[in-house]
Amino acid sequence: MNALDPRKLTRELLAFNTINPPGMERACARHLGAILEGAGFRVAYHEFAESRTSLIATLGGDDARPPICFTGHIDTVPLGAAPWTRDAFAGETDGDRMYGRGSTDMKSGIAAFVAAAVELAPRLARGPGIVIVITAGEEVGCEGARFLADQKVLGRAGAIVVAEPTANYPYVGHKGLAWFEVETRGVTAHGSMPEVGDNAIVKMARVIGDLEHFHFPVESHPVMGKPTMNVGTIHGGLNTNSVPDEARITIDTRTVPGIDHGHLCKSLESLLAPRGARVRKIVDTPSLYTEPENEWVQQVFEECTPFLGGRPTPKTITFSTDGSDLKRGFGGPPAVILGPGEPTLAHQTDEWCSLGRVEQSVDLFRTLMRRWCGA
Ligand SMILES: [Zn+2]
Repeated sequence: MNALDPRKLTRELLAFNTINPPGMERACARHLGAILEGAGFRVAYHEFAESRTSLIATLGGDDARPPICFTGHIDTVPLGAAPWTRDAFAGETDGDRMYGRGSTDMKSGIAAFVAAAVELAPRLARGPGIVIVITAGEEVGCEGARFLADQKVLGRAGAIVVAEPTANYPYVGHKGLAWFEVETRGVTAHGSMPEVGDNAIVKMARVIGDLEHFHFPVESHPVMGKPTMNVGTIHGGLNTNSVPDEARITIDTRTVPGIDHGHLCKSLESLLAPRGARVRKIVDTPSLYTEPENEWVQQVFEECTPFLGGRPTPKTITFSTDGSDLKRGFGGPPAVILGPGEPTLAHQTDEWCSLGRVEQSVDLFRTLMRRWCGA
């Protein structure tokens, strides 16, 4: 068997600057592709834009049963305004911690499943096999995963593990993300003669009042709870002594299963049409959910129990993932979000991952791969 050290691989992945924007994931994707090819995987690269490289690596496969999918994104968020006390790209360690941008979210998760897959490769080459999906562009609207699903290049998968940071707790889904921009228009005039103009900000104030009375078509979900709406930004007016002829807000809605984002957009349009407001959807990631009773999810819960000190209870996570688009692209298999990173450290200054948890993940992923493949 070919042993690949997950610590060393995490450090290698951290050295690639894949801050998004601009992303530029090609070199990092090629590095992972070469490792997987060396272990016998068939590797295909897909670019949704120049240097924005995702890859799909497959090993084994038979007609009887689809493969198990492990997935992760290689892009990271920017470093932020606050200075780091550690080098963000060197993979510095201090005891159990490895520091770096993307250490938790989610290069350590990728290193864990790639290490497990490379080690087991000779066994996984027989039977249903495995498909590894490494995506670019997750941090800005899941662009890479959406591209793979839209291009219909994903093939088959019977289950998906999204190795985002969960401290090895298996989550059964997350809310959907639908962002909208709403615009009102008016007629400008001198501020001393407002009666001659038509004030777009006053219209927008009424729009915001209307939104407070908006009812989602599904009011609550047994595991996820209620859908939410937040008005996040507002812009309007050029100077104090003019009647503003344009105002804009952006709205962040977090949806639960049963809420279709296209219908949601139409409901907002009809609610706000009397104000003359224009509504545009700007970000769209559907919710992700698998019934906890699903047989494979129960297997995952069972395998996580020793690491968690108790059997997990069904929960969903607060952030959204590539899992939504990949599930669509794979035709709706069960999915869990399960990875070694610390959820509270994602996107933080001095982000780190626990190397102990990374080792746990390798064990856990190895077990899930072997159970799926009977290897
Ligand atoms: Zn992430």
